[in-house]
Amino acid sequence: MTITDTTTELSTRETDLLARIPDGLFIGGRWEAGTRERIAVQDPATGRVIKRIANATPEDGIRALDAAAAAADEWAATAPRVRAEILRRAFDLLQERRADFALLMTLEMGKPLAEANGEVTYGGEFLRWFSEEAVRISGRFGQNPEGTGTMVVSQRPVGPCYLITPWNFPLAMATRKIAPALAAGCTVVVKPAELTPLTTLLFAQLLADAGVPDGVVNVIPTSTARTVSEPIIADPRLRKLSFTGSTPVGRSLLAQAGQNVLRTSMELGGNAPFVVFEDADLDKAVEGAMLAKFRNIGQACTAANRFIVHESVAEEFARRVTEKVQAFQVGRGTDDGVTIGPLIDDRAVASMTALVTDAVDRGARVLTGGTAPEGDGFFFEPTVIVDVQPGSDILREEIFGPILAMTTFSTEDEAVAAANSTEYGLVGYVFTQDLARGQRMIDRVDTGMMGLNTGLVSNAAAPFGGVKQSGLGREGGLEGIHEYLSTKYTLIPG
Ligand code: NAD
Repeated sequence: MTITDTTTELSTRETDLLARIPDGLFIGGRWEAGTRERIAVQDPATGRVIKRIANATPEDGIRALDAAAAAADEWAATAPRVRAEILRRAFDLLQERRADFALLMTLEMGKPLAEANGEVTYGGEFLRWFSEEAVRISGRFGQNPEGTGTMVVSQRPVGPCYLITPWNFPLAMATRKIAPALAAGCTVVVKPAELTPLTTLLFAQLLADAGVPDGVVNVIPTSTARTVSEPIIADPRLRKLSFTGSTPVGRSLLAQAGQNVLRTSMELGGNAPFVVFEDADLDKAVEGAMLAKFRNIGQACTAANRFIVHESVAEEFARRVTEKVQAFQVGRGTDDGVTIGPLIDDRAVASMTALVTDAVDRGARVLTGGTAPEGDGFFFEPTVIVDVQPGSDILREEIFGPILAMTTFSTEDEAVAAANSTEYGLVGYVFTQDLARGQRMIDRVDTGMMGLNTGLVSNAAAPFGGVKQSGLGREGGLEGIHEYLSTKYTLIPG
């Protein structure tokens, strides 16, 4: 692993871009800066503040909901084709402005520029996919069993939605919610993560440029998420809460949503098993491991958390992944050649250190990395640890950082038991060349998604989501739009 010197000064291009990012709340189609207290957004590679933006209060939150409620009927009545074409225009504009979005995400979140570009592609696909889905909302009809009437089943927009997004994919987590909501005919209030609100603000401007009418999308960054969210969630005009974030926050939001009997979608934490059988193609398994573990600096809900490797190939697998990890270049995501950026903040760095210390205290061995380098920014060395013992925190907690932690198994039943010994159930990865075994693992591993001989499953055309404590509902795919539609049944006698 090489650590590059961090370029601490902003380049002219970066300064220009940051100057163009709106710094207000976006409510009813207007930017509101106000004189309120600001949120300071940091570059995690340097720890420096790069922009200060308006900080929404609970009153602002309710005004944003006022705007979404006021725009709801007209947007629901807007022709699906018109909604589709606005989303398609947003997709096209995003391609034109790709470089700005990619750089901005690298600046506020830290991921290497190549990965930020990848997120523009992935995030953009939700706009394109749901522009195509908007005109395919359909129902069914048929005679009732008694033969006395016609039963008509149609789909209606659920109504105003509150969308809460995390910091790790600042664009894609927003488009994955906003695009299906708009396609379905719903208006929204979006609360981006306070650590990375700039991308959502730039995206709100793009949506307005694409022709999204005033009030259909409202954005309220805030440093007081709970106090701003509670009154919105309790308001009878709100009909849907969609949240992506950690499981503890998701649980508390579900309890609040229960009081208002809201529709909810919960995309929560993960603890993905990555199982490598003795008959796996090791080249593919190593390549898959790099993607599943180190993409986004390990800060993905789909990140492989527990490497469960057959004892006969464990040493070879560990040797090969260590070699790859040592070739990573760690640094500011804007710098050439950098493959691993910083973590999001100092708490994340402290959490990595604690997880490694706990694992080592219980008998694990560090093959590479394991510490936070000196200097600016929130960096942690990409790490491989083996012989991780049962009971270690790292097997139970979502790591959310660049640590590959390995255990071994000898039988398929053991692998299944290890894979399922978690409260989470988002995604699992299995590497085997035996198709029958692969199929058994797909059936037996208790997750919402599986990757068979691949380390990356996300796709706008696929239903993304988990079981157990990883959440409720699906985003993307044919399923995604249904999170924002409610079924209406009508009986017509005769
Ligand atoms: P987080 O739960 O701390 O915050 C997520 C969002 O919720 C942020 O916008 C935050 O401001 C807001 N929030 C926090 N407390 C709140 C409260 N009491 N009321 C209302 N809003 C509140 O999570 P994070 O650290 O931003 O994101 C990382 C987590 O997100 C990880 O657990 C990761 O697995 C999960 N995640 C899941 C998916 C998925 O699709 N399943 C995708 C990305 C991230």
